[in-house]
Amino acid sequence: MTKPSQRGALPGPFVSKLPDVGTTIFTVMSQLASEHDAINLSQGFPDYPCHPALLTALTRAAEAGHNQYAPMAGLPTLRQAISAKLQLSRGVTVDADQEITVTAGATQAIFTAIAAVLHAGDEAIVLDPSYDSYAPAIAAQGATPIRVGLTAPDYAVDWHRLEQAVTPRTRLIIVNNPNNPSTSLFGASDIDALAAIAERHDLLVLADEVYEHLVFDDLTHHSVLAHPVLRARSFAIYSFGKTFHATGWKIGYCVAPPDMTTEFRKIHQFLVFAVNAPAQHAMAEHLADPAHWQALPGFFQARRDRLAHGLVAAGFKLLPSHGTYFQLADFTAIRHDLDDVAFARWLTIEHGVACIPVSVFHADGRDEKLVRFCFAKRDETLDAASARLALLNA
Ligand code: PMP
Ligand code: GLN
Repeated sequence: MTKPSQRGALPGPFVSKLPDVGTTIFTVMSQLASEHDAINLSQGFPDYPCHPALLTALTRAAEAGHNQYAPMAGLPTLRQAISAKLQLSRGVTVDADQEITVTAGATQAIFTAIAAVLHAGDEAIVLDPSYDSYAPAIAAQGATPIRVGLTAPDYAVDWHRLEQAVTPRTRLIIVNNPNNPSTSLFGASDIDALAAIAERHDLLVLADEVYEHLVFDDLTHHSVLAHPVLRARSFAIYSFGKTFHATGWKIGYCVAPPDMTTEFRKIHQFLVFAVNAPAQHAMAEHLADPAHWQALPGFFQARRDRLAHGLVAAGFKLLPSHGTYFQLADFTAIRHDLDDVAFARWLTIEHGVACIPVSVFHADGRDEKLVRFCFAKRDETLDAASARLALLNA
C-alpha cells in the first residue's frame, strides 16, 4: 500500500523494522490532488462540517477548563456514554470501566491491540484487500501477516481457505467489516464461521468496525460484540472521526473483555497515556442523542447514489457499494491500456479528479482495474467531480 521510501544511509546499528514502508497512498494521492488542483475523492475524509453541537461542546469543554490529562482509560462519562450506545444499538452489555478504552483514533487502537497480542515469530491473518495500517503494525512486532486474498466483485470470504492459513503460530485474525476498500459486509453466516474458526484454533480477533454505521440499502451490520463466542475473544475497534465527520479529531475506542483490556491498556498507557480531554467531553455529550448516529446510513447513501450517477455517466462500471465512505469503479471502458495506479494518476493530473488505486490494498499488488472514490463530500463537490468526469466522454 505504500511506496518504498528512499533508503538513505541509516547510522550503523539502525536496522529498519519496516524497510518496505514509505508514504501511504492516501498521503500520496491527496498531495497529487493538491498539486494539480484536483477534486480530492481519494483519501477518506468529509469536506462538510461536523455537527454544530459538537463544535460548541468542544469549545465549552475547553473553556470550562478541561485542558489537563484525561484518565488513562478515557473519561468515565464518555465510556459510560459508549456503553449506553452499545446497549441501545447492539443490545450488548459492556462494562464501561473494565471493557472500554478511549484511543487516539482507530489507528492507535489497532496498533495497540496488535502490539498487546503479537510476539516476535507469531502470525496474524489479514484479509486482502486490507487497510494499510494492519501489516506494518504486525511487522513492527516481529510477527508476520499471513494474507488471504479476496477477489472482486463480491470479495466474499472463503472461510475454508482462511482456516487453511491457520498454523500453530497464528494468534490473531484481523477483519474489517464493512471493508475498506471493497465495501463488502459480513452476513450472519460469516460471523458464525469466524467464531467457529477462532474457537476451534483458540485465536483472538481484531474487528475493525469503524464503518459500522455506514451500511446501506437496509443491510444489517453484524458486530463481533453481538456474538457470544467472538465477544469473549475480540478487540472491537471504532472511530468517532468516521462516525461524526471529524477525522481530524483522532478519537476512537476499543471494546474487549476485561483481561484483554488490561493488556491493551498496558500498551496504551505508554503509547499515548491519555486522549485529548476536551474532545472526550464533547463526544460524551454528542453520544447522548442517538439521532446523531442513527441518521448516518441515509445521509451517506444519498451521497453514494449522487456520485454513482456521475461515475456511470462517465463510463465507469460500478461495483456494489454496501457500506463505508467508498465506491469502487472499473475503468476499463475508459482506459483499458492503463493499470490502476497509472489510471488514478492520469485521472488526477489530466482530469482533475483524484481517486485511489485498489491494487495498493493487496500485498501481491494485483491489478483488477479498479479505483476507489470517496463520496463523503458535499453535493457541490460531488457534482463538480461529475462535471469534470463527464468530459471523459466529450
Ligand atoms: N480502519 C479503517 C478501515 C479505516 O478506513 C480507517 C481510516 N479512517 C481507520 C481504521 C483509522 O481510523 P482513525 O482515523 O480513527 O484512526
Ligand atoms: N481511512 C482513510 C482512507 O481509507 C485514510 C486515513 C489515512 O489517511 N490514514 O482513505
